[in-house]
This record gives sequence, C-alpha cells and structure tokens, in this order.
Amino acid sequence: MSVIDVVVIGAGIHGAGVAQAAAAAGYNVLILEKEGVATGTSSKSSKLIHGGLRYLESYQFSLVRKSLKERAVLCRIAPQLVKLQPFYIPLYINTTRQPWQIRLGLTLYALLGGLHKSNLFKRVARKNLKYLDHLKQKGLKKVYQYYDGQTNDTKLTKAVIKSAKELGTIYICPVNITSIEKNENLFKLTYSENNLEKTIQAKVVVNAAGPWVNEVHNIVAANTKSLEMDLVQGTHIIINTPAPSGVYYLEAMDQRAVFVMPYEHDDEVRTMIGTTEKLFTGKVDDAMATEEEINYLLDVYQNYFPENINIKVIDSFAGLRVLPKVGGSMFSRPRDTVLHWAVPGMLTLYGGKLTAYRSTAELVIKKIKPLLGNKKRIAFTDQLYLNLE
Ligand SMILES: Cc1cc2nc3c(=O)[nH]c(=O)nc-3n(C[C@H](O)[C@H](O)[C@H](O)COP(=O)(O)OP(=O)(O)OC[C@H]3O[C@@H](n4cnc5c(N)ncnc54)[C@H](O)[C@@H]3O)c2cc1C
Repeated sequence: MSVIDVVVIGAGIHGAGVAQAAAAAGYNVLILEKEGVATGTSSKSSKLIHGGLRYLESYQFSLVRKSLKERAVLCRIAPQLVKLQPFYIPLYINTTRQPWQIRLGLTLYALLGGLHKSNLFKRVARKNLKYLDHLKQKGLKKVYQYYDGQTNDTKLTKAVIKSAKELGTIYICPVNITSIEKNENLFKLTYSENNLEKTIQAKVVVNAAGPWVNEVHNIVAANTKSLEMDLVQGTHIIINTPAPSGVYYLEAMDQRAVFVMPYEHDDEVRTMIGTTEKLFTGKVDDAMATEEEINYLLDVYQNYFPENINIKVIDSFAGLRVLPKVGGSMFSRPRDTVLHWAVPGMLTLYGGKLTAYRSTAELVIKKIKPLLGNKKRIAFTDQLYLNLE
C-alpha cells in the first residue's frame, strides 16, 4: 500500500487551498470529499473578498490587515474571479454609526490595506446621491464610497482545486470515510467509493470539513481532542429586482450590517441580500433559510429601497459559520481560523474566511512540514494563476 504525504478531508475553500499549497510544496496529496467541490459553506458565503470593515469594531486589526493583503493577491492571480466593486455606506439621520466613526474606520481600513489607490475612500457628492440605485433619499445625510472585492465562491474554490490537480493532487468524490486509524506514525483511512471499499495510508491528515469537522473526529479510532464550537447560521436571498451598481453596506433595524449586492445567478445579474446571524443547534445537513430570516432581509431591503416594489425571492441559501469557543462573546469572537491538533498528525481547521484561505493554507503547511520533511518545491501559491478555463 503506497503512503500518501497529506490526505485532505473536504473540498471547500480550505481543503482546496491546503491541497494546492501542499502540492506546491512538493508533497503528494489526496483530497477525499463526500459530496462535491464547494457544496458546504464555500458556496453559501457573502462572496466578499474583503478585509472586513466591521471587524475593526471588534479590534481584529491583524485579521483585517492579513485579509486586505490576500485581497490584493487574489485580485492579481485571479482577475477573472475576484473583482473590486464600489461599496456604499449610506448614513441617515437615525443611523447609529456617526460619520466621524465611518471616516475613522475607512481611514484605518485604508492604512491597514497599505494606502494603495484601491483603498482610498470618498464622500459621494450631494448632487449624485439621487443616482444611487433608488436608494431612499428621505433622511439621507451622507454616503461614503470605498472599494472591496467580490467573487463567486463556488467558482473560486473550483479554480483552486483545478490548480491543485495541475500540481498532481488526486481528488476523489463522492466518498464515505468509514474509519481513520492511527498506527505508529501512519494513518490508515478506509473509505468507500462506488460501493468499493478502499484503504490508504497517510503521514498527515488535514481535517477541512467545515461545520462537519467534529463529526469527522467521531470516525477516528483514537482519542481525538475536539474544540467546542458554536455554529452560526447566515442566510442570503436573491430577489428579482434589477442589480444595484455596487454593494450597499446597510445598518439593519438591530444595528447589524447587511449587504445588498449585485450577483450573477442563473446567467443573470440579480440582487443578493445577506446575511443573518442565528445560533444553529440542529443537524449540520439540515441548515436552511427560515421564513423569519427571509422576512428580516426583505424588511432591510424595503426600508432602504422603498421604490422597488413587487419583490419576489427567487432563491435563498444558508451557510454555517464555525466559531470555536476560544473566548469572547459569540458575535465578537475572532473570525480567524483556529488550527488544532485533534491527534498528533491530524490537523483540524476551525472557522476562518474565504478571503484568507491561501494564507491559512500556507500556515497549515508550516505546521505539518516537521512531520513530512522537506521536498523540492514546485511552485508558490501567490504566483499561481487561478482560472476555470
Ligand atoms: C453566511 C456566511 C457568509 C460568509 N461570508 C464570507 C465572505 O463574504 N467573505 C469571506 O471571506 N468569508 C465569508 N464566510 C466564511 C467562509 O465562507 C468560510 O470560512 C469558508 O467557506 C469555509 O470553508 P471550509 O472549506 O472550511 O468549509 P466548507 O466549505 O463547509 O467545506 C467543507 C467540505 O467538507 C466536506 N465534508 C464534510 N464532511 C466530510 C467527510 N466526512 N468526508 C469527506 N468530506 C466531508 C463537505 O462536503 C464540504 O465540501 C462566510 C461564512 C458564512 C457562514
């Protein structure tokens, strides 16, 4: 039985990124995926490649800086998949956040992003406010405009998988992993593929199963240490109104940030609205948008775009955010990935951002390298062009 250097469980953005980075570092890699590329959270995100302006409010400066750096890398290596969009922040007489706070936040955001032209912000001239996609004018004081990135998360994940395959990664899907045993320094993984049982050996296992990570630990025939985590459901809806010209960053009735953005859905550019944040306690496979969440998002939209009527919801989807319990209240908890050795040799990824997948993957390689030894590097992930052609 041949021995594989790295087996990655899960083909979301993190599994894809780790496989690509491991293969680029010269290791042989196998991905085992139960359903399909980006069928989990990585197709249900807000599709933003961003530093996360709102994370400044919870002082997550290093995450914002890292993510802005990754945004610049992705705009360079995946120009067909990651594009900068104008973002608008409208401020009304009753908006909680004051103009000086927004200016301060945007200034800090620009500084953390390295004062590049794409990080500059401005106030939209008063005479141009009426041209902003039927945005409510009553009570409107100011609108700030800056730039951030948008992608198609499914396509981005597929492009990273494609790149990993080009570097020699083997991708097997659908599989059902039935057991993971640790013998001496090697893992023995048993899985079924097309009703055939197969066994492989691996030096290192990376568990990138998203919200299912702790379920994967249950398959391991050894004492695994799982981190306690909360799952927070986030829902988006797609509606039939014409797409806005940029992304609107709105304050909802409960002061949460909600985005209204253009998004290509079934070959047409539509309006997407999201997201909610609701503690999820059910079975991971059962996550779905609730009527309450859909109505909440419609209320936010109608409050800011009252002229757009006869709105129909044409699609909705819900994703689960993994928030490991590592201090802080649920919604101010760090959004960065937590890397955790479930058993020696098996590294589990909790949480994280689509935007920072590449730097997370490089960190994973740094952690697992001592178990694998050095190999001749084939490529650098910040120089590999990502596309789907
Ligand atoms: C509502 C919401 C909005 C978000 N918006 C943004 C955003 O705008 N920008 C941003 O940067 N980040 C965003 N994020 C975060 C980002 O989407 C996630 O961090 C990222 O997609 C997680 O990817 P993953 O690979 O860890 O997990 P997943 O994408 O869930 O992938 C896990 C994979 O593992 C597979 N799997 C599970 N169990 C097994 C098993 N036993 N065997 C084999 N395979 C298995 C699943 O089928 C799945 O394909 C958002 C998250 C949420 C929930």
